[in-house]
Order: sequence, then structure tokens, then C-alpha cells
Amino acid sequence: MGRDRDWDNAFTGEELRGKLEDAPSYAGALSFLRRRYTRNLEGVDVAVTGIPLDTATSNRPGARFGPRAIRLASSSMTWARPWPWDVDPLEELAIVDYGDCQFEYAKPASVPAAIEQHVDGILSKGPACLAFGGDHFVSWPLLRSHAKIHGTMSLVHFDAHSDTWPDEDGDRVDHGTMFWHAVREGLIDPATSVQIGLRTTNDDTLGFNILDARRVHEQGPAAVAAEVLRIVGDRKVYLTFDIDCLDPGFAPGTGTPVCGGLSTWQALEIIRGIAGIRLVGMDLVEVAPAYDSGDITAYAAASLATEMLCLFAARSARTAG
Ligand code: MN
Ligand code: MN
Repeated sequence: MGRDRDWDNAFTGEELRGKLEDAPSYAGALSFLRRRYTRNLEGVDVAVTGIPLDTATSNRPGARFGPRAIRLASSSMTWARPWPWDVDPLEELAIVDYGDCQFEYAKPASVPAAIEQHVDGILSKGPACLAFGGDHFVSWPLLRSHAKIHGTMSLVHFDAHSDTWPDEDGDRVDHGTMFWHAVREGLIDPATSVQIGLRTTNDDTLGFNILDARRVHEQGPAAVAAEVLRIVGDRKVYLTFDIDCLDPGFAPGTGTPVCGGLSTWQALEIIRGIAGIRLVGMDLVEVAPAYDSGDITAYAAASLATEMLCLFAARSARTAG
């Protein structure tokens, strides 16, 4: 695309596919990867949406600004195929930015259903969803929506925390309890799911496979990726990435940082190493830009999200061919 045409692709892009080889990264509307902002999902493969909720967080709030920060960081990532992939999600997939989920912040009990309804509205039209939190609570309504279409899924969960704390009363809007609920509701199967990068104590694993931070550091990303592939097999996978899986040195911009985490390159290499998984949905959560420094967390998040799209495109390419 030359500069003889309007480069502000979020408004003017006629094609849903394609790189933006010379659109200036410093200007223009900040959709994710400069994709078109639209609610029209006809012919769309992946709809990106933000869920700016951060009132379920137990420590520092601020993840409501995560979607904006990720979109901003992504604006410099649209000019070439993501290295080192041989598949280009911007060419392979029709991706749009669907904008953000609306909910009543002052009526917290109404929020889970509002998110679920928002995601239902996307999935029912056919595309897959890439959602940006918000805090990690958003994954529970996301999983509910996905299970209506895909049934019980395997979860690939990157995090410093288990997020499997019990909620017997069932009414907590809490970013530490989602996967306890998801297992109980049969949305995910812990025996074929895996949690990566954990480094906080929760003696009840709920039956999840756990590849903790020490295992990543001792064995390396390739061995961890191989184990993930063994655990999930060819089952439908929902991938959730809590940015606090990364060490605070690589992702300070988050609400509940824990030292000793993954580097950005380790996480990216694990994602590259699990190419071929049957990915049906994905989210990236807990980016809180107020604690960020030099946008390093936002860049890590935008890079990880872009490579999730590579994962999705790799599988699509394989099944099409
Ligand atoms: Mn966490
Ligand atoms: Mn989490």
C-alpha cells in the first residue's frame, strides 16, 4: 500500500486482510493491528474485542486501560509477517476490531452476564474471538460463551497464579476464582489442561497439569511446549494469557506481579512451540498500563497476542490444506 491512498486503515480499510507496509505507526486510529473497526462480522475469521473490567482485582487496579495500551503498542506491528513464523495472520485471516464490551461498572453483579452476552454476540456470527482484559475475571464469561459452541475445552493457561480458589457461594466477581468455576461447570477439563509459569502456592491443583516457572527455567521453552502438546493432544483449546506470567522485569504493568517469572522470549517460544494445537478461543489479560515503564508490558502483550493469531492461522492453514 502506498501513501497515495488513505492509510488510516481502521476507518478506510476496504479489505479485511493485508499488511500495512508503509502506514505510519505514530498516527491514525488505534485499532488492534490497525484492523478495521466494525461490528459487521460477515466473512470475519477473528474478532478482537476489549473487556475493560478491573473491579474483580485483588491488588492493584488499572487493567481497564489494558485494551487501549495493547492497541497502541500493536500499531508498530503491521508492516511484515511476524518473525519467525511462515504464516502471516494478517494475510491468512480476516481480522476486525470489534471495539469494547459495554457494561454497568456501578452494577458489578450485572457484569458477568453482560460480558457473556457480548461474547455470545460475536461467536454466534461465526468468528473466533481474541479478547483483551481487563482483569482475569473476564475469562469466566468468555469460557461460558465458548463452551456453548465448542463444549468442554482444554485450557492452556499462562499465569503466576492458579486462579482456582474456591467460591462455594458462587457470587464472587473475583479474578482468583474463575477456573474453579470453569471446572465445576464443565467448561474446561483439568486433566487435559495445563497451567504454565505458576509460582504461588495453592496446594489444591484441582487436577490441572502444572508446568511451573521453575520447570520452564530448568527445562526450557521447547521441552515445555512439547509437554503442552502431549497434554492437550488434538482437543479444542482455549488459550488464556495473564501477563503476570511474565516476570515483573518484563511486565511491570500489571496488578499482581510475582518475581521469578518467564521472560518475554520464553513465553513467545512456548507459543511458537505449540503450533498445530486446535485453538478455538483466546484472551490476554491483566495489562495495567499505569504501572508500566516505557510500554514494555504493552509491547509484550501486543506481541504475544499477535503470535496467538499466528497460532490460530497456523492451524487454519493446516486444516485448509
Ligand atoms: Mn496472575
Ligand atoms: Mn490470572
